[in-house]
Amino acid sequence: MSEKLTAQIVAIGTELLLGNTVDTNSAYIAKELGKQGLAVESIAVEGDDEGRIVAALQKALAEATVVFTTGGLGPTIDDKTRSSVAAAVGRDLVFDEDLLAQIEARFAKFKRKMKPNNRTQAWIPADALPLENPVGTAPCFIVEEGNKALISLPGVPREMKYMLQNRVIPYLRKRYSLTQVLKTRTLHVVGMGESDIDARISNLEELENPIVGLGAHAGVVDIRITASADTMAEADKLIAEVEAEAREKLGAAIYGVDGETPADAVVRNLQASGNKTLYIVESGTAALMATRVAAADVGGTTFVGSQLGATLAHGQDLVPIVEQRVKATAANVAADFVCANVVTSEGKDVSYATAIWSKTDGLIISDHRDASANAAYVSSWGANGCMSRLLDHLRKTA
Ligand code: AMP
Ligand code: MG
Repeated sequence: MSEKLTAQIVAIGTELLLGNTVDTNSAYIAKELGKQGLAVESIAVEGDDEGRIVAALQKALAEATVVFTTGGLGPTIDDKTRSSVAAAVGRDLVFDEDLLAQIEARFAKFKRKMKPNNRTQAWIPADALPLENPVGTAPCFIVEEGNKALISLPGVPREMKYMLQNRVIPYLRKRYSLTQVLKTRTLHVVGMGESDIDARISNLEELENPIVGLGAHAGVVDIRITASADTMAEADKLIAEVEAEAREKLGAAIYGVDGETPADAVVRNLQASGNKTLYIVESGTAALMATRVAAADVGGTTFVGSQLGATLAHGQDLVPIVEQRVKATAANVAADFVCANVVTSEGKDVSYATAIWSKTDGLIISDHRDASANAAYVSSWGANGCMSRLLDHLRKTA
C-alpha cells in the first residue's frame, strides 16, 4: 500500500485520568503496531464520559486509518465504549445472540454464575465484526467505515494483548496488506557523555532509515536504531550496518544491547574473564549498586557480598575515603574486585566518589563528581560510572 497508513489510540477509563492506573495499554499497542510498520500518530486518554469519547473517536477517525479503543467494554454502567463507538459512527447498538452464547459458555466453563449485566456485553454496533474473546468475558469488535477501521479492545492488559496479537494484527495485515516491519535495537553506552557520542555519530543520526536517536539517563546513554523494511531479515541487515559503524566509532563504550543493564554486563564480563568475583562497598546509596548486581547475578556466583556504611557528611574530599575503603575491604574479603560508591548530599548539592580495587593490580581507578540533583539519581550515576570503569578494565585485561 503506497499511501501512508496511520493509527490513533483512545484509551478509555476515568481511572487513567485520576492517575490510579497508568495507561500501559496504549504503549503496548503502539509498540506492536510499530513492528507492523503502522505508525501511531496520537494517543488520547478519556474518562468514562460518552460525550468526550464520541468527540475523541470522531476526531481520530477523521485523521487516521485505524483507530483503537482500549477499556470500557465491561458490563457496568460506567463502561461507555460500546455506546460511544456506535454514536461516533452513527449506528445503533444491536444484540448479537452468538456473542451472548459465547459469554454464557465462558461462564459455564468456569462454573461461574453469569450476572444479568453481562448480557450488555453482547450489544455491539450494527454491522460490526465481533471478535470472540477466549481469555475474558468482554467481546471485542471492529467497525469498518470505508477504508477505515475502528477497533475496540478490552482494558484488562492480558486480554488486550491476547486479542491484539491473535485477532487484530492478523486482521490488519490482511486488510491493509501490511508488509513493512519495524525493528528497533538499542545500544547502551556508559562512560561517555551524550554530546561526545553525538559528535562521533552525528552522520548516523541524519539517516532516514534506519532512524538513529539518542536518549540519556543517569550515566547511561542509549542509541536507538529503528529500521523499517519488507522483512525482519532486511531490517536486521540495515540495523547491523549502522551498529557496526557505531561500534567502530564508539568502541568499547558500548557495553550492551536491548534489555542489558550495566549490572548485567558487569556480571557477564566478570564470568567471561575466568569467573572473577566482586564485592561492593557503599554509603549514601541505599545499596543501589549491590542491589542491581545481586539481581543481575542470577547464578549467585559472581557477586560475593556487600557492605553498606553510614552516610558521610557532605563537603569533604571523598576520593581518599573511597580509596581507603576499597583497599581495607580487599584485605578482608576474598574477591577479585572491590568496588565502592559513596554519595553525600546537602540539599541539592550531591557528590559521588567511586573506586575499584583489583586483587592483582591494586587500585585501578578512583573518580568523583559533584552535581546538583537528587541523591537517588546520583547514586545511580555513580553506580553506572563505577560499573563502566570496571567494564573498561575487564576489556583491557581480557
Ligand atoms: P475496563 O475494560 O475499562 O473495565 O478496564 C478493566 C481494567 O483494565 C481496569 O480496572 C484497569 O485495571 C485495566 N485497564 C484499563 N485500561 C487500561 C490501560 N489503558 N492501561 C492499563 N490498564 C488498563
Ligand atoms: Mg473502565
